[in-house]
Amino acid sequence: MPSPNMETNGSDTNLRHTQSPAIRRRIILFPMPFQGHINPMLQLANILHTQGFEITIIHTEYNSPNHSNYPHFTFNSISDRLSEIENHLPMKANAEALYFVKYLNISCVDPFRGCLAGLLEKYGEGSIGCLITDAGFYFTQAVAESLKLPRMVLRTSSVSCVLAWGVLPFFPENNYFNLTKEDPNYESSAPEFPVIKFKDVAKMTTNPDGMRNYVTNMISHMKASSGLIWNTFKELEEPSLETIVQQFSVPSFALGPFHKYFPASSSSLIEQDKTVLQWLDTQSPKSVIYISFGSIAHITESEFQEIAHGLANSGFPFLWVVRPGIVSCSNWLESLPEKFLESVGDRGRIVKWAPQQEVLANPATGCFWTHCGWNSTLESICEGVPMICSPCFGDQPIDARYVSDVWKIGVYLEDGFDRVEIKMAIKRVMMDEEMRERINSFKEKVNSSLEEGGSSHQSLKRLVDYILSFCNDTQ
Ligand code: UDP
Repeated sequence: MPSPNMETNGSDTNLRHTQSPAIRRRIILFPMPFQGHINPMLQLANILHTQGFEITIIHTEYNSPNHSNYPHFTFNSISDRLSEIENHLPMKANAEALYFVKYLNISCVDPFRGCLAGLLEKYGEGSIGCLITDAGFYFTQAVAESLKLPRMVLRTSSVSCVLAWGVLPFFPENNYFNLTKEDPNYESSAPEFPVIKFKDVAKMTTNPDGMRNYVTNMISHMKASSGLIWNTFKELEEPSLETIVQQFSVPSFALGPFHKYFPASSSSLIEQDKTVLQWLDTQSPKSVIYISFGSIAHITESEFQEIAHGLANSGFPFLWVVRPGIVSCSNWLESLPEKFLESVGDRGRIVKWAPQQEVLANPATGCFWTHCGWNSTLESICEGVPMICSPCFGDQPIDARYVSDVWKIGVYLEDGFDRVEIKMAIKRVMMDEEMRERINSFKEKVNSSLEEGGSSHQSLKRLVDYILSFCNDTQ
């Protein structure tokens, strides 16, 4: 039975799969507690539920999903001990995301093991097909092995990101991470992974040792898992998927984009301001710039002001998501240039959080200025909206490089925020018809990949059969 937030659409109908009650099995999923990780994990859970699996979600106390949006799932909350480092909440700097993840990989071990063992006892070993955890929760591999439960991994980034990160641990010392604009190599490609430049590596982290440690742990435990699930589609990342299959000797299932299986998702941790949709309806087709840097990224006050000047000078209408706290030392809009709001008038809307998928799907949206989180990048591709890329950290510089240099569906603001360059980038993305055609062609490929016989549809069927094979093993 579809849940309230899973009304049917075309692709959903194609996906309905009838498992007989006798083989209906439970899957346990464990997302990392960040918006960009919770969304795809709960979307995957919904997809697997339509395939006849019972769903149990284990989650941390921090950023708990709203249970009432998922009456068809059961939830188990575990202690994360984040209150012991309370003064770090909420994250105030990009670098802290790594610290959080490392901490959780230690603090959650015992509570998670206890919870999983309890679920195995409650439901009976034979009734649980597998565990699916976020790749960032690498500690779960040892727990799953000790309880003899197959662990599959959901990696919420692009496949190309994992390949690029795979070479990071072998970079010489910290040289690549610490390069500055003055270094003659700054603009050159990294020989170990030529798509990315040294300047991209320098943006990835301010904590190279922490990053190397995290990446090494994540990748080695992905390789030890029973299989990898990707929120991507073959037509977008075919060469990278082929390489992953060679490098990681476990099955890979690319069945994305997950959010396209259902109408707009309901796993937002922050309330979405839906009034913007009425405003968008009054704007001309493809005229509006949508700006959002996701749920974690931070910018400085001067970067914020350059963005404001760039938007004001561009002359285009805009919808700007300013997440409270995105500018350190500022609650919300205090850092806007003087008279900014009066000067832009009704041409600009600023909100704290938007219904992003619906905004991107609105015909008025002509360009997405994004930090290139993987969900945002995929959501833009699915709606055929070309991008301006301002990556902040982590996988974002890699996504930005693929968007601008490989897929050629956006412009990368490589050298930070400067009002003159911003205005030029906006004009280019708004006017470049070839770029729009390229991203529209990906949009069509997304739709065919989800149809009966399409690549993502087939991957999902393979995944279901694969999970059922674990169930049969335990009978
Ligand atoms: N999002 C949203 N409203 C906003 C901004 C973002 O609903 O105003 C959603 C967006 O649709 C995406 C997620 O938040 O699914 C952000 O994930 P992403 O991987 O792009 O970035 P992260 O937040 O992890 O940096």
